[in-house]
Amino acid sequence: MGRQFFIGGNFKMNGSAKSVTEIIDNLNKAKIDENAEVVIAPPSLYLLLAREHLRKGIEVAAQNVFDKPNGAFTGEISAQQLKESGITWTLIGHSERRVILQEDDAFVASKTKAALDGGLGVILCCGESLEQREAGKTIEVVTNQLKAVADKVKDWSKIVIAYEPIWAIGTGKVATTEQAQEVHAAIREWLKKEVSSEAAEKTRILYGGSVTEKNSSELAKQADIDGFLVGGASLKPAFVDIINSNSA
Ligand code: PEP
Repeated sequence: MGRQFFIGGNFKMNGSAKSVTEIIDNLNKAKIDENAEVVIAPPSLYLLLAREHLRKGIEVAAQNVFDKPNGAFTGEISAQQLKESGITWTLIGHSERRVILQEDDAFVASKTKAALDGGLGVILCCGESLEQREAGKTIEVVTNQLKAVADKVKDWSKIVIAYEPIWAIGTGKVATTEQAQEVHAAIREWLKKEVSSEAAEKTRILYGGSVTEKNSSELAKQADIDGFLVGGASLKPAFVDIINSNSA
C-alpha cells in the first residue's frame, strides 16, 4: 500500500480567534480529497477552539511541546495535556525554534521521544541553511538532525518527517522539484540504513518551504514527496487546493 498523502498547516504566531475560526469554517465547507490526511497547527491559544469547531477527520497539532509530563516548567505544555484535550499531533524541530529559540538536536530528540511516549504523532522538521547548502552539506546536516532522534527513538511509525530548507521558508523561494526530491530520496535511504526498511517504506516525508497552490501539484508528483508542511499559504483559502494537489 502507498503512503497516505499528508498536509500540515503551520499557522505560526498568526491569526486571531476570528481569523482562525474563518479558516476552520472554510476547511469545514471544503471538498477535501478523502485520501489526504490533514492536520492544522494554530497558535496554542487557539488549539481548543480549533478542535471544537473543526470537522472530524482533520486533526489538530500543537506547534511545540515540552519533554516532561508535568511540573515546574513555566510556559510549557506537555504531550499528556495535549492528548487529553484531543490535540493528537505536534510539530517538533521547526527551524524557527531551532534558530530563534536555539533548540538543539538533543532537545528536539528529547521532545520527540516525550511526545511519542505521550501518545502524540510528531511532525519532525529538519533542513539546512543556505550557507550549509552552498557548502555542499545539506544531506549531512539533515541526517545528523534525524540521527539525534534515531538515537532516542526506535519506533518511527508515528513520525512524519518534514524536510524544510531554511532558505525556502517564508521567502517565496521554493526548492526546485529536483532539489526537494534529491533530499527526500536521501532521507529515505538514511531511514533504510539507520532505522529499518519498514520505516523507509512507510514514513511520510513532507516538503516545506514556500509551498503554494501554484507549485504543489508538480512537487506532489515526485516519488519521495508524500505531502507538505505549509506555512503562509495555510492561512489562505487556497490551502484547500494544496490539500487536494495530489488528486489534481
Ligand atoms: C513552515 O513554517 O513550516 C513553512 C514551510 O512556511 P512557508 O510555507 O511560509 O514557507
